[in-house]
Amino acid sequence: MNATAYERRVLENNLRKALEREEFFLHYQPQFDIATAEIIGVEALVRWKHPEMGIVSPGEFIPLAEETGLITQIDEWVMQTACAQNKLWQMAGLPPITVAVNLSGQHFIRKNLLDTVSRIIEDTGLDPRYLDLELTESVLMKNAKDTVNTLRALKEIGLHISIDDFGTGYSSLSYLKRFPLDTLKIDQSFVREITTDSDSAAITTAIIAMAHSLKLRVLAEGVETEEQLAFLRDHGCHAMQGFLYSRPLPAGELVRFFEERCAA
Ligand code: C2E
Ligand code: CA
Ligand code: CA
Repeated sequence: MNATAYERRVLENNLRKALEREEFFLHYQPQFDIATAEIIGVEALVRWKHPEMGIVSPGEFIPLAEETGLITQIDEWVMQTACAQNKLWQMAGLPPITVAVNLSGQHFIRKNLLDTVSRIIEDTGLDPRYLDLELTESVLMKNAKDTVNTLRALKEIGLHISIDDFGTGYSSLSYLKRFPLDTLKIDQSFVREITTDSDSAAITTAIIAMAHSLKLRVLAEGVETEEQLAFLRDHGCHAMQGFLYSRPLPAGELVRFFEERCAA
């Protein structure tokens, strides 16, 4: 066995044990209303504190978790933890916000997804309208007929549904209209170039216009500069998330961030 295959096996074994060893934790990145600059939500992003390797980024272990099927357990832990945390914030008196969690394709097509979501909502006591599920276009389009039914059932529970990385996959526009969705998240690859590349600017403008006509909310991800924010504001984008306002933060720091902004 060569070194990389061996390293992969080791990483896979470690990943299997990470849940029971409680090595995962979450960071929360605030999302802002562009018009009012108020925090309207946070996205929960998973991190892994490996005993020897230190913090491993999701870009490194999520693909492996998907290949091995461990992703469904991880995503479930993330949903449970993020909902419990959001309920704690509300009980502590912070203004209510949504918490967004990322759902992998494998999780979305599982028969028991609805049971899992319902159980977590009941366990944590979080009002379902404060849970936002992020799904990518490719996941939604893979089996579009089933997708419509699953999304309807999730909307019946009262959840918020977002399409993540919008613009990078292939969406059938007729399905977009039929899916019960709430928010399109414009992918960061377009946002990064809106002020320097006319194609990215044109795509972003088109996504915002489409969201308006489909009566969906639109959020731009990866906003790093005031110029990008000004462009988005001028074109009627509702919400943003990005390093310009805040990096993903540990739960405790988010509370401080909240308080400082409210005091300002
Ligand atoms: P994503 O869902 O598109 O998440 C946004 C990523 O962009 C995050 O990276 C975030 O830290 C980063 N980001 C936010 N603002 C900026 C910015 O202004 N500039 C730049 N350059 N980057 C920004 P992160 O946390 O490394 O996550 C990477 C990906 O891993 C996520 O992409 C998502 O696909 C996946 N992921 C993270 N947590 C979970 C999870 O709990 N479950 C699943 N299934 N996937 C997850
Ligand atoms: Ca996401
Ligand atoms: Ca994204």
